[in-house]
Amino acid sequence: MPSRMQRLRRQGGRKVLAIQQMKKLRKENFMGQQIKKVAVIGTGTLGAQIAVQAASYGYDVKAYDQDPESFQKTLQKIRGVMKMRGKGPTVPMEEWEKGTQKVKQAKDIGEALKDADLVIEAVLEDLELKRKVFAQIDSLAPQGAILATNSSSIPISKIESATKRAEKCLNLHFYMPATSMNIVDIMGGTKTTAETIEAGQKFIRSIGCIPLTVKKEILGFCFNCVWRAIKRQTLYMWAGGYVDFRDIDRGWMVFTGMTQGPFGLMDTVGLDVVYDIEMVYYNESKDPKDHPPAALKAMIERKELGAKTGKGFYTYPNPEYARPDFLKGS
Ligand code: NAD
Repeated sequence: MPSRMQRLRRQGGRKVLAIQQMKKLRKENFMGQQIKKVAVIGTGTLGAQIAVQAASYGYDVKAYDQDPESFQKTLQKIRGVMKMRGKGPTVPMEEWEKGTQKVKQAKDIGEALKDADLVIEAVLEDLELKRKVFAQIDSLAPQGAILATNSSSIPISKIESATKRAEKCLNLHFYMPATSMNIVDIMGGTKTTAETIEAGQKFIRSIGCIPLTVKKEILGFCFNCVWRAIKRQTLYMWAGGYVDFRDIDRGWMVFTGMTQGPFGLMDTVGLDVVYDIEMVYYNESKDPKDHPPAALKAMIERKELGAKTGKGFYTYPNPEYARPDFLKGS
């Protein structure tokens, strides 16, 4: 029987082969739009991971954040998340660490954008801010560049008019943690061309991820729409006092075989981020059932934001759900 070390080496070898194949795909497969240089604007929780993912798969990546410390601070946090989940990146850990070194930090946004083929915006979830940043990106990035937003809830159709290239704008929605949750929702706006969508799909595949393409605009994109229904229902059950959130997580973990339930996952995403996203849905529908519960707002006001502040539904760095006896219940 192979030892644990041998198994790990084999798995690492398979991952290296997969990366080599992806790099080959990247060189050969872009018959339409050529993407070689990627700019990531905003290197917080998601932007930093997207930048490292693209750099690990051989792209020339430049990143810019208005907070120059953001990238390094986020990497530390992500290393902690990977440790806590016991799940490393989709590339071998050393490749991922090399990727972190390859991302070039631009001093200003213009430097990051000047020769980009693809720009991925990952600033805060705020429509006005995103429109402002998109207008800035549009004026500084090369004319042919594709512009993507990583927004969790805002359709690109609400942002595209801030640019003069709506046909080249799209949603590329990564999941948290992007290091191992390798699915990405893709959605076009009112004028996005088939070529732009195809270039997006190919780019996503070329960085070891699976594109989930939306055919007709829907709030929440593809899998995020499913996740949204789960969040809304489980938050309602918890806030209404119907069930202990731990039992919801236990059920989910046994049912799906996952290492976290919806509440553990919301803690990882950040409860402030979850709240903001739910508010986007509520503002769109104005249906009171879509409004996030007041109990969630109260947690945010107490700075109980999840893993990033050490307390959310669970306490960190050793949340109850990660204990071997958690599934047995109390
Ligand atoms: P975050 O708060 O961790 O990071 C946002 C970063 O944007 C910060 O580092 C901030 O300094 C920077 N920023 C703000 N304004 C800027 C500007 N004008 N120019 C340059 N940088 C600027 O947020 P996040 O969780 O990474 O979310 C970013 C986007 O990704 C949001 O749209 C969010 O909906 C989406 N998203 C988040 C998750 C998640 O789980 N956190 C998952 C998928 C998508």
